[in-house]
Amino acid sequence: MTRLESLAELTYYRGRVGLAAILKALDIGPGDRVATQAFTCLAVPEGIMATGAVPVWIDTEPGGVNMDAEDLARRLPGVKAVVVQHTFGIPARVPAIAAVMGGLPLIEDCCHTFASRLEGRTVGDFGVASFYSFEWGKPLVAGIGGAVTTDDADLRAKLTQHHKTLKEASLKSLLKIQLQYFAFEALYRPSSYWKVRRAFQKLARAGAAEGNYNPTGEVAEDFSLRMAGSLRRRLLGKIREAGEVLVHSNHVAGRYRAEIQSGAVGQVCLPEQSEIAFARYPLLAKDKEALLAKAEEAKVEVADWYKTPIHPAGPESWPAVHYEAGSCPRAEELSRQIVSLPVNKKTTDRDIDAVVRLLNSL
Ligand SMILES: *Cc1c(COP(=O)(O)O)cnc(C)c1O
Repeated sequence: MTRLESLAELTYYRGRVGLAAILKALDIGPGDRVATQAFTCLAVPEGIMATGAVPVWIDTEPGGVNMDAEDLARRLPGVKAVVVQHTFGIPARVPAIAAVMGGLPLIEDCCHTFASRLEGRTVGDFGVASFYSFEWGKPLVAGIGGAVTTDDADLRAKLTQHHKTLKEASLKSLLKIQLQYFAFEALYRPSSYWKVRRAFQKLARAGAAEGNYNPTGEVAEDFSLRMAGSLRRRLLGKIREAGEVLVHSNHVAGRYRAEIQSGAVGQVCLPEQSEIAFARYPLLAKDKEALLAKAEEAKVEVADWYKTPIHPAGPESWPAVHYEAGSCPRAEELSRQIVSLPVNKKTTDRDIDAVVRLLNSL
């Protein structure tokens, strides 16, 4: 079995369900504190809180999009485990983070990359366990789904035990996911991004599409589910095409890096000694709202996430996920600046030309 094929072994209804499974296997439960970075999506606190644990929010590093080791060190007392996210596929500075953790378990959030490398090691190989997601917008899309990997024999045995107790989602839910998958495959292109996005939001509001987040405060049924067989088989097919995904995303990101010379955007700080397999190519916008409006008008794909430190939750929902306004000022500022460009296989050279032209004209 190759390293990538092991992604289809312990599969879950979603990535967050895999995260909750890891935490439970580590004996983390009600009242325990789990550190994770602000500048993430609600899926992560949902996974943490499904075990009864409480998220402890850590700020991002100066100029970058990943966890700041110094801020982690400050907030570490009482923490039982740390979730480290490789945002947009950019590897977090894991050695510096691990150095302040004093032997606590480190879990890697690899939802944005299966291939980035740091100091010669592939992400997902640093921590005690890692979790992945295969929904829309991730490097390998199976529909909806997630996976866990670990090299720890004891943890693997516990995860395998728990995995046997999981059920498949209802036929109705599976049908919804499959319809969404085929609609997405047929309709989505960078040039149709804004149209498809509006349609999806409408359908999700009407309950006809599988939305991305559950209401906070209740443990969704999702956490008792594994990935359906048909989606898992599709994932295995996607794994076989992973090499092509990678070559293409490197080509697209390389063109963005070489050709975008716009005063309207700045670059994100990247770690040294890294090879980055981007999920999306991030930029820091001087005026995010104006840039997004121009992009929509020009029918060019520029995404807005993360719009808030715990996307898409606004300030009114922060208490429910234990986030205190102002506690992670860099992550809050980053959410006001970040935009990102597609690198997926549907991104053609014409799409790249269009976005480069737009940005360089601003
Ligand atoms: C997508 C994502 C997840 C998990 O997503 P699921 O919808 O639960 O599969 C977790 N963390 C990050 C950073 C993500 O982008």
